[in-house]
Amino acid sequence: MNPRKEPLAPLLERRSACPLCGAGVSLWRLLCDFGAMKIFACGTCRMIFMNPFLGKEGMKEFFSQSAVEAKEIPHFKRHDVAAIAQNPGDKLYRRYAACLRRIEELTGKGRLLDVGCGEGLFLYVAAKEGWKAEGIDFSSSDLERARKNLGLEAREGDFEKADFPESNFNLITLWDVLEHAADPHAVIEKCRKLLIPGGVALIACPNEGSFLTIIAGWLYSLSFGIIKFPSRLLHVIDHPLYFDKDTLKKLLREHGFEPFYLETYETDDRNINLPLFVKVFIKVLNILAKPFDMQNRIMVIAKKPC
Ligand SMILES: [Zn+2]
Repeated sequence: MNPRKEPLAPLLERRSACPLCGAGVSLWRLLCDFGAMKIFACGTCRMIFMNPFLGKEGMKEFFSQSAVEAKEIPHFKRHDVAAIAQNPGDKLYRRYAACLRRIEELTGKGRLLDVGCGEGLFLYVAAKEGWKAEGIDFSSSDLERARKNLGLEAREGDFEKADFPESNFNLITLWDVLEHAADPHAVIEKCRKLLIPGGVALIACPNEGSFLTIIAGWLYSLSFGIIKFPSRLLHVIDHPLYFDKDTLKKLLREHGFEPFYLETYETDDRNINLPLFVKVFIKVLNILAKPFDMQNRIMVIAKKPC
């Protein structure tokens, strides 16, 4: 583990166009001002994004500093993947297995690539479910954890540059990946190229259209920017992009994908290192959001046409 915790400011890049539709700065609206970090909404496509932001090189540097454990993301807690892997009754294990079974009905079991596989829990479950599963991640420390805790080998590198054969995978999964991307179009286009015709992409990320985000936004704007904490919690330095149902579907459709399943679900609170009353508040909001499909995480499954 590299103990360096350098300031992130030198790593930030500036956009001059909306990352989804390309609209220029004059069409953006400032949503939240956190000093060095500012959150904008595109007036054309409603995409939410950070500017300046951590670009690809900055993101690699950020994760190489093991920033997850450092002060930049103080509320994040790692899963105990070794324990979850041994417990097929665990809610995260069950979620992964249920997703795979849903997709299997459509494509059968085949070759799977998990992009940003991290510590390898999804790869582990996929292999147990009978998929031929490969993973790629640029974090050597996460891949080392996958080796140590789950005995898994995955490729270290940049997905967008990786030389996987085209039309090769039945399924490509991006769990908590797309919100870290500098260019979401490049990531989704790469998925399209690597999938077989009729192949499937699964994308899961935080939902910017959730009750939680909306209420945090109200608190920020009604207090004239004084109540920053809830919004700040939801907009973190390593997430340059913030999708909701519409912007995620728009992105996929622009690359020829047909989204055929979408759900929102609540964050796994074992991942959150916050006081109990905050956790309870998040839980209650997500319960209220459920009937409206506005919980704080979003998952879309989309098919590449045959
Ligand atoms: Zn836009």
